Amino acid sequence: MIFHVLTIFPEFFRGPFEHGVIQRARESGAVDIRIHNLRDWTSDRHKTVDDRPFGGGEGMLLKPEPLFQAVESIFPQSQPASRTVLLSAQGRLFNQNAANQLTAMTELLLICGRYEGVDERVAEHLADDELSIGNYVLSGGELAAAVVIDAVARLLPGVLGNQSSAVFESFQAGGHAGAMLDCPQYTRPAEYRGWKVPEVLLGGNHEEIRRWRQRAALEKTARLRPDLLSHARIEH
Ligand code: SAH
Repeated sequence: MIFHVLTIFPEFFRGPFEHGVIQRARESGAVDIRIHNLRDWTSDRHKTVDDRPFGGGEGMLLKPEPLFQAVESIFPQSQPASRTVLLSAQGRLFNQNAANQLTAMTELLLICGRYEGVDERVAEHLADDELSIGNYVLSGGELAAAVVIDAVARLLPGVLGNQSSAVFESFQAGGHAGAMLDCPQYTRPAEYRGWKVPEVLLGGNHEEIRRWRQRAALEKTARLRPDLLSHARIEH
């Protein structure tokens, strides 16, 4: 899958994609991440990307022309399996479901806002979708773009070493747990500072372990994320 990122801070992405799973996925060719500098699509000497809001108010907005030019040159024709997404605090909430849906795309272009945001015509007429990564305001869309790419990329075939590992995770409705949190996990030592790993996990009874994990996941979800339980599908 090809991810395009449109940003005024291309250097921002030197770090986030150069470690672990995502780095290996880039090396293997499973994902290709292309960072585009918005200023390359400006036409004035100062490479201006922002302007003052009509009607007054604080700060500056990303102006429409460079954004339209950039997206139309990255995607000269609209293709059914490509999507342009504006990262925005006002967007639909990005979640595991949205990540799963985006894996069906062959190309995804993420527009990073800055300053006080982006001229609304970009959301209305250029982006196919407007996504928020949570109910808080960031100073730019770059961190949000990195979050979306990471969450989508690790779901792609061949990216995680063990194919089932993405299925049995938090929020992943295809897993044993329904759409709830993953179960608590432990590694050695079996006792640390007097805190013991649950006995059942030390034995080899797979059926008992499966049931314990399901109960523990449910208990943790009820405690920390009761909002998820209305959607959970519990198997017995
Ligand atoms: N004035 C806007 C916030 C602008 S923040 C408002 O109140 O809604 C500047 C940029 O950061 C936005 O254009 C967007 O691209 C990005 N951003 C901020 N919060 C975000 C969030 N929760 N999810 C995704 N992108 C976000």
